[in-house]
Amino acid sequence: MADGLVESVPDEFQDQVARVLLSEERIGARVKELGAQIGEAYRDQPLVILGVLTGSYMFVADLTRAIPLSKLEVYFIKASSYEGTGSSGQVKLSGLDHVDLTGRHVLIVEDIVDTGLTLQKLKQAVRELDCKSVAACTLLHKNTSRRLEGTPPVEFVAFEIADEFVVGYGLDYNQSLRHLPFVGIFRTKSAS
Ligand code: 5GP
Repeated sequence: MADGLVESVPDEFQDQVARVLLSEERIGARVKELGAQIGEAYRDQPLVILGVLTGSYMFVADLTRAIPLSKLEVYFIKASSYEGTGSSGQVKLSGLDHVDLTGRHVLIVEDIVDTGLTLQKLKQAVRELDCKSVAACTLLHKNTSRRLEGTPPVEFVAFEIADEFVVGYGLDYNQSLRHLPFVGIFRTKSAS
């Protein structure tokens, strides 16, 4: 068991979630640690958080409350990935044009880094807006062979996870299961 805590999937989710990967308690403790670490890294400098919708909404809400900085602004932007006709996916970004990032320290907050494509596009787009610095924070960092070459580093990672499809704490399956307070392994339906 990854968690060290015995936590079972609530009855109403048994048919959709195979097991709990990260309990609510474990996430809460780690998010507090990470918030303190981010506070230390930026000390008294103003920081702009750019949460990436939709998956990061719960993480951003908890993380920002754990960052001990007096000057913190929070914005959400939308990144949607879609598969093109070729092998590489495309990412559509929206909402960045409403935020003035010139000369500011920016922290992009994602739910999960899988191939790294979303983060790559985002860091590139933010850099072009003349910010002072750009760094990334993710709740989950997947250990996957799908990671694209040349994807940027992730400065703040809450949890490294194996290559399995996860849901909960903001992450969805077809827009469902975001509201789970824990991260669970999605139950793949068998053919029979
Ligand atoms: P990327 O491949 O660009 O790093 O990640 C793109 C997006 O794929 C993530 O922001 C997330 O929405 C989705 N994604 C990747 N892996 C998972 C997963 O295990 N579970 C869920 N729910 N979404 C995932």
